[in-house]
Amino acid sequence: MTKTADVIVIGGGVIGTSAAYNLAKAGGQKVLLLERGDICSGGTAKSCAIVRTHYSVEANMVHAVESLKIFADFDNRVGGEVGWRRTGYLIVGPESHQEPMETVFRMQNKYGIDTAVLTAKEAAEKHPLLSFHDVGVIGYDSQAGYVDPYLTATAFANRAKALGAEIITGTEVTGITLDGGMKTVQTNQGQFQAPQILMAAGPWTHDLGKMIGVQFPYVNSRHKVITLKVNTPYQLDYPIVKDLTTEDKIYFRSETGGVVLVGTGDHGDPLDDPDSLRDNVDMAHVERIGALMANRMPSFSDAQFTAGWTGPYDITPDWNPIVGGVDGHDGLYVAVGFSGHGFKLAPTIGESLSQLILGQPPRVPIDMYRMGRFAEGKTLHGAYGIGSIS
Ligand SMILES: Cc1cc2nc3c(=O)[nH]c(=O)nc-3n(C[C@H](O)[C@H](O)[C@H](O)COP(=O)(O)OP(=O)(O)OC[C@H]3O[C@@H](n4cnc5c(N)ncnc54)[C@H](O)[C@@H]3O)c2cc1C
Repeated sequence: MTKTADVIVIGGGVIGTSAAYNLAKAGGQKVLLLERGDICSGGTAKSCAIVRTHYSVEANMVHAVESLKIFADFDNRVGGEVGWRRTGYLIVGPESHQEPMETVFRMQNKYGIDTAVLTAKEAAEKHPLLSFHDVGVIGYDSQAGYVDPYLTATAFANRAKALGAEIITGTEVTGITLDGGMKTVQTNQGQFQAPQILMAAGPWTHDLGKMIGVQFPYVNSRHKVITLKVNTPYQLDYPIVKDLTTEDKIYFRSETGGVVLVGTGDHGDPLDDPDSLRDNVDMAHVERIGALMANRMPSFSDAQFTAGWTGPYDITPDWNPIVGGVDGHDGLYVAVGFSGHGFKLAPTIGESLSQLILGQPPRVPIDMYRMGRFAEGKTLHGAYGIGSIS
């Protein structure tokens, strides 16, 4: 038997669940979310879930600011506990970043965002373990923090369900047929139909693209996260740090259990098939990151490597997402290519997508994320070169 809905969302990561929640909240629509595994079993599960506002691309900045307000007050605004911890966010960079950073901060301050350039003494008061001997500029984003990615995606999903959406897990989309108005989605659990479909399958979106004959401009890559522990207590409220002086563009943040979680914002390793991703982290990577951490925090020279995992980035040519309608296919929408920084944007991306799908003007604009920007030469380039800092 074919099940019907008004909107089908494919993918139960943070983007799909946020969109499903916002669609259900708007009311009057039968919303169905199809997820091949469990909620939060894709890239979102591997995320460091850092929520910052420091962006040089204006579009990202506006989404980050509005989304941060939702993360910081999630229980009241959406409902549920996501583990929000406000820490602030320090950005250390080479001298060449001073001018772009000051320009970005001026733009951010106009939006009421509290970012500022700090002296080494001021920064050391916020994070006493850091060394600034080789740093040209230090920026600070006071509102930033982090949450738990699993709690966030499941909270969105639970709220969507409570508002009437149907969420079906263990259901893999294997085909999409675009027959005029009504679209048919084939799965391993039968057939579903709706006039509107949102594809939010993260790194697996190429599989859906093949079903409809569209090649989305993004590549997947593999990123490693490691956790380190030192004898010196690492306070949970120490600011998150982004170290733009390193080739890997490392970032690190506190985690419970006294460990520090370290990721990279570079290209990562090529990943042709996201299903081939394994969690092994090679010792050469641990040693290289360990040396970079010891350079930034001398007390980490004898840090203990406690754990590691890998996760996928879906990277577009300008390191910014593709969000909106699929050209030439009325009623078909996509959200992909978040290039390693999509978690923090998810609350308002989901909201704006739901408004677009319901024919309303998005409160937070998403038009600049249209796929057509690549052909139009209107790509969104950040001030610090490539990377997930954008
Ligand atoms: C190591 C790492 C650290 C990161 N850290 C940060 C950070 O600190 N801050 C930040 O903002 N961003 C961060 N990101 C990026 C962020 O986590 C991602 O951009 C975001 O989680 C992507 O969410 P998504 O919903 O698009 O994709 P996913 O979470 O991958 O969701 C896609 C879902 O679609 C499902 N699916 C796929 N194919 C099908 C199908 N055929 N049928 C049904 N379901 C299907 C998958 O099972 C999956 O659950 C990080 C990413 C990684 C990997």
